[in-house]
Amino acid sequence: MDYGKDYFDVIILGGGGAGMMCGMQAGQRGRKVLIIDHSKKIGGKILISGGGRCNFTNLGASAAQYVSQNPHFCKSALSRYKPEDFVSLVRKHKIPFHEKKLGQLFCDRTAQDIVNLLKKECEEAGVQFLSDCEISTVSQKQQNTPSQTFFEVKTIRGTFVSPHLVVATGGLSIPKIGATGLGYQIARQFGLACVGTAPALDGFTLPEQGPHSFQGLSGLAVDCTISSRKIKFRENILFTHAGLSGPAALQASLHWEKGDSLWVDFLPEKDSYAWLESRKREGNRALAKNLLSELIPSRLAQKLCELALPAEEPLIRISDQELRTFCEKLHHWEIIPTGTVGYNKAEVTRGGVNTDELSSKTMESKKIPGLYFVGEVIDVTGWLGGYNFQWAWASGWAAGQVV
Ligand SMILES: Cc1cc2nc3c(=O)[nH]c(=O)nc-3n(C[C@H](O)[C@H](O)[C@H](O)COP(=O)(O)OP(=O)(O)OC[C@H]3O[C@@H](n4cnc5c(N)ncnc54)[C@H](O)[C@@H]3O)c2cc1C
Repeated sequence: MDYGKDYFDVIILGGGGAGMMCGMQAGQRGRKVLIIDHSKKIGGKILISGGGRCNFTNLGASAAQYVSQNPHFCKSALSRYKPEDFVSLVRKHKIPFHEKKLGQLFCDRTAQDIVNLLKKECEEAGVQFLSDCEISTVSQKQQNTPSQTFFEVKTIRGTFVSPHLVVATGGLSIPKIGATGLGYQIARQFGLACVGTAPALDGFTLPEQGPHSFQGLSGLAVDCTISSRKIKFRENILFTHAGLSGPAALQASLHWEKGDSLWVDFLPEKDSYAWLESRKREGNRALAKNLLSELIPSRLAQKLCELALPAEEPLIRISDQELRTFCEKLHHWEIIPTGTVGYNKAEVTRGGVNTDELSSKTMESKKIPGLYFVGEVIDVTGWLGGYNFQWAWASGWAAGQVV
């Protein structure tokens, strides 16, 4: 069959991190590759990542930092394309970077460096880009025998065909820079199951009033532990106008389902009862909230006392039992959010193409040979801290070796 210029060995839908990694690998293997994206700017999400500096990997990345219905699925790809492999690429392009904390690597300059790296590698491998190009339909055609099956992608700029179609269209987060549900739609069209999606690495919204409201604390950050479904994170939480944000809250959102409680320890590693009780025994006449302000920010101390003590009283007037109950609460404070902020702010989308449908080695569909899914569109979601890009690189790399 001669399709002339519209025929490609590989067509990749989506020019984000996963799509470009897959494209450069396939291109380096001599394949004729086309990446189609409807956004004007390739790699838009990379540009806004990590506060503009792109936390491009995490040195400690392993399957333990990913959430999926099948926690084993990501192991193969992660073990074959490691953080050090991406770091070598970054070094090759002489991009200055630093470790911020906990193995998180960021660009010293801007995230544009990472987009330039990926584009350059793709261009050198002969990968063609078609940006600002709406995709109208994707279908599968058969020519005589099943082995001559190919995919047809109709776009506003023409029709393209290929025996290998890689779907790298990401999740639903941040629609204003081009996120759509196209990947899930294609999966369903071809009969592949998807795990329900939800905004994740997202802030929580809290009620405006009542025991789960923290109004008036906006802007305050505190080091604490927060747990959701018994999975605990220790980092800062940030009180916002809407509710809760900050790294620990974002991490907790990965596991949270509507109606769930969050449990916060405002004084990790401190025995607050022993500390307050010894001041009581010394006859300290200060108000409980003022004493607590020695351990946590005073605005928070005041709010917690308001919510959990019967009255504003000096410590010595609070009974031992009341004090014990109050202190237990400080270490095990229940918050029931009304929801999360949503896809306009969430860093990622949890859920996606069910991993049972895909080969963990190649990302190819088990049902539809030639159809691949890479990156965030798959039901593999990483913690905050460079893990999601590492998954984009590793899954894109895995498919790029075989398409
Ligand atoms: C604000 C923010 C900060 C982040 N910071 C970090 C970080 O520092 N470190 C980290 O590891 N992760 C971070 N993430 C997560 C990370 O950006 C993603 O997990 C990662 O980019 C996913 O890569 P991907 O290639 O699978 O999808 P994407 O990067 O989302 O790429 C998908 C591409 O598909 C295109 N596309 C979508 N729909 C269509 C369609 N209908 N037609 C044609 N093209 C389409 C899009 O335009 C896009 O270019 C951040 C996310 C956000 C939102």
